Amino acid sequence: MDTSNDKLERRMYSHDLAPLPKEMDVIFKTMPDQVVRPGYTEEVVQMVKKAIATRKPIVPRGAGTWGLGGSVPVKGGIVLDMTAMNKIISIDEKNLVVTVQPGITWKALADALDEKGLFLPCYPSSAPSATIGGWIGTGGTGIGAYKYGSAGDLIRDLEVVLPTGAVVHTGDRFVPSNGGGPNLNWLFVGSEGILGVVTEATLSIVPKPAEFRVVAYSFEDLSKFAPAMRKVTRTHVAPMHIMFGDRAHFEYLRAAGKHAPDVGCMITMALTGSKESVDVEEKILDEIMASSEGAKMPKDVADHEWSERSYEFRVREMGVGAIPGEILIPIENFEKVLSEMQKLVKEMKLKAPTIGTIVDNNTVMLMPYYLTDEHNFLRSTAAMGFGKKLGDIAFENGGRPVGLGIFFAGNLAKYRGKEGAELIRSIKAMMDPNDIMNPGKLVETGTRYGISLPAFMMNFGMNMMAGMKRLMPRDKVGEREIAKLKK
Ligand SMILES: Cc1cc2nc3c(=O)[nH]c(=O)nc-3n(C[C@H](O)[C@H](O)[C@H](O)COP(=O)(O)OP(=O)(O)OC[C@H]3O[C@@H](n4cnc5c(N)ncnc54)[C@H](O)[C@@H]3O)c2cc1C
Repeated sequence: MDTSNDKLERRMYSHDLAPLPKEMDVIFKTMPDQVVRPGYTEEVVQMVKKAIATRKPIVPRGAGTWGLGGSVPVKGGIVLDMTAMNKIISIDEKNLVVTVQPGITWKALADALDEKGLFLPCYPSSAPSATIGGWIGTGGTGIGAYKYGSAGDLIRDLEVVLPTGAVVHTGDRFVPSNGGGPNLNWLFVGSEGILGVVTEATLSIVPKPAEFRVVAYSFEDLSKFAPAMRKVTRTHVAPMHIMFGDRAHFEYLRAAGKHAPDVGCMITMALTGSKESVDVEEKILDEIMASSEGAKMPKDVADHEWSERSYEFRVREMGVGAIPGEILIPIENFEKVLSEMQKLVKEMKLKAPTIGTIVDNNTVMLMPYYLTDEHNFLRSTAAMGFGKKLGDIAFENGGRPVGLGIFFAGNLAKYRGKEGAELIRSIKAMMDPNDIMNPGKLVETGTRYGISLPAFMMNFGMNMMAGMKRLMPRDKVGEREIAKLKK
């Protein structure tokens, strides 16, 4: 087992995708005392037992590509970097299941399956670096969601080291866990590493489709595209994946020197099946899009967009931070949310390109982002205010923001109601009596002092940050970087 106490290395583990300004050290001890890379389940058990004995937190971490602080300590302790547990244990072609260690990336798994004529039905768009354990931990939606669901839908069985050091299997290897009591697989999906460490996952897979085709359409803007999309969701056409970007998104990409279309917005869909079924689906989509003033994009544009599906934030290559906010909303309220979001963006003096996906036939995921200097205390905290207000828009429209992590733990009762939130807190307390497993997240915003910040205080603080953002001068980081590139 590889262990490090090196200060620089520990510093690298004191943030995830979204660096925290150093001023936050007053509240959180994000620097771990030790970084450990286990190779086997038994080594994870050893570390959990050590954490219990020393009463130090233990924080499971994949690639750290999430931005809500799930894999960042709030009061030091041991960070358990799971990326050394990255083996494919078996690919069972007869039973269409694959068993892997949690530190393998989704892309490495997809590539290995592809070589055997098999297909990984869904994965996060961060697949080149995100790990299996990380996406199970966040329970997000991703590529393939529309037709095949998400990480939780793939899981047959998990091996989990519980906060007591016990090792459990949550499901059945070859068949789904229906009708076998409460489905324990799902207990760990989206549990953000607070209930245990996933050390092995058995996932269902599918044969590679005979036909895989990408089609794309452009519209004047997202509000024109919304009704067309609603029509698609009322048919039985089931693209594997549906994603879109608005004019500002493609403008930013072009400014950053990337190849991107000059359109009001573009929707890209991947179709899977037999050649005949894909032909039929494409024809239906062509008709719906044309009747809603959508223009079909050339095949090379569609294929290029698909090849870029894991690199939505290429604008970061300009050297500035992109702060995404992510919400899920009912498709019925698509246009209303777009208009409220645009109002918010204007009030906050932002340029906020928007990307998103259609998650299922009732749900849209919207992810506006903006460029800012994440190391600037005022600007990065103000960004959280934007996230809070965006979340409020989602709640008011029958949806919700995605993920709790450190800063949005106060939303738990809004997601699940007071009693539901209490139930989740009791499950955590029962499973982790020593409160060592990734404490201070999801059920509470913990601090380095062992006390948690009350939800009302977090919400008040976030609203203040949003107010502050409105008063601050316009964030010109994006424009400045683009101007530099144009010189
Ligand atoms: C460009 C880009 C695109 C993205 N696209 C998507 C997307 O399409 N869909 C989406 O949902 N998210 C997306 N994300 C967010 C993020 O990449 C995903 O949530 C990803 O799955 C996190 O994986 P990770 O290995 O980086 O996990 P980390 O960030 O390291 O951890 C995430 C959480 O999981 C827990 N965890 C990690 N490993 C384990 C384990 N073995 N056992 C128990 N808990 C564990 C951690 O404690 C933490 O709470 C994207 C991010 C980027 C930068």
